[in-house]
Amino acid sequence: MDVSVKDLRTYARCPLEWFWERRAGLMRPQTIAALVPAAIRAGLAFFYGGHANDLPASVGLVWQDWCEGWGEASLARDLAEYAIGRAKILNLFATGHVHRPDGGRYAVPEMTNEYRTRMHEAGLTHRGHKLDEFARTHKLLPSDEDDRPGSAMGDAFAKSMASAERVAPDLPARDVVLGWQVPFQVDLGIGVHLTGAADLVVQAANDPSGVVLEVHDFEELTWIRAGLAGRDLRVIAASLAQPMPSLDRSEGAVTWERVGQVSFRHWPTGQAFTFRETNSGHLAGLVAAIARGMRHHVVIPRAVTGYDDCRPCVYREHCWEGANWDTLPLIDEGMLGYASDLHNVTQRIQQALGSERPESGRMLTALHELDEALQLAGAPTDQADLLSAVRHGLEEMDRNEL
Ligand code: SF4
Repeated sequence: MDVSVKDLRTYARCPLEWFWERRAGLMRPQTIAALVPAAIRAGLAFFYGGHANDLPASVGLVWQDWCEGWGEASLARDLAEYAIGRAKILNLFATGHVHRPDGGRYAVPEMTNEYRTRMHEAGLTHRGHKLDEFARTHKLLPSDEDDRPGSAMGDAFAKSMASAERVAPDLPARDVVLGWQVPFQVDLGIGVHLTGAADLVVQAANDPSGVVLEVHDFEELTWIRAGLAGRDLRVIAASLAQPMPSLDRSEGAVTWERVGQVSFRHWPTGQAFTFRETNSGHLAGLVAAIARGMRHHVVIPRAVTGYDDCRPCVYREHCWEGANWDTLPLIDEGMLGYASDLHNVTQRIQQALGSERPESGRMLTALHELDEALQLAGAPTDQADLLSAVRHGLEEMDRNEL
């Protein structure tokens, strides 16, 4: 079974989100927030591909292309003017010219009345609303988006430009970057292949066969710690990454023998952490559990804990509008019945074997391994999957007996 790191994270966040995308085949709705990572990733490809002198210029080019694609080339200028005005106001907060009544700094200036007032006085509220009207007519912004002092679209532009400027001096040089968005796989030895993509692959210093893989994160957090980054499934997967076998042989393919380090780069704050060792057991355990859930279509919607947890989700109208909630596909009854039948059969065989005869011990061990392999494979209904689970179980038994 192949599972991507992206699917793994989606399922872990909300199994129903995974279901809409992977089983119901719904196209993921476009969001303004997703434009920030998209602009930076495309900008990195421009920059490392040698099409612009620096990253901010590359990201600017990406937005310019998008505006032309939306049929409104002049929008790029409006976005740039909005970003300049917004940056001036935020700078007043950053330098302490605007502060809390007790003299302290505001943690999130954009949430304050002071920011709202200054945006209004600078004419950025009106300008921002016009930008968002455009975004709505191009289905980039849902109609029920919260009212804000500025513009969701303008903020996305400003954030991607500010992140690019902040991070650019710390990026690896062009001559040591081997590739970007490079696909990889991880064989965890549990019958599941994990697939993913490294944001950057960088040549390791003093090790011609080694690389440093970069994982880029765009979650809007005001702070990030090494401990959090080290637990990130993308970081653990990257530390175990092997090049895709099909790419190995193609000319110019990015390949490596060792991942020496993984760098986790958090674009909103500009912080980066480096890891040499990660907890692969943690990843294997999670992948096994999630793969089992996916195979059985175990779908527990995050919505059961209330609307607040669903607020940032792109599928909230599918889950929350009208009678949708009552028709949600939670668990596949057929698969559940199949799993319990299979368990009953193995239990009956175990009872029939007993533990008296000398050969029983070996057969019981085989049955136990087989049961575990079937559990891991998610009680497969497909004959090929079933045979592969049986083979895996028997191989495991052989290994344990050596
Ligand atoms: S709206 Fe809530 S329950 Fe539905 S997919 Fe999103 S997070 Fe899951």
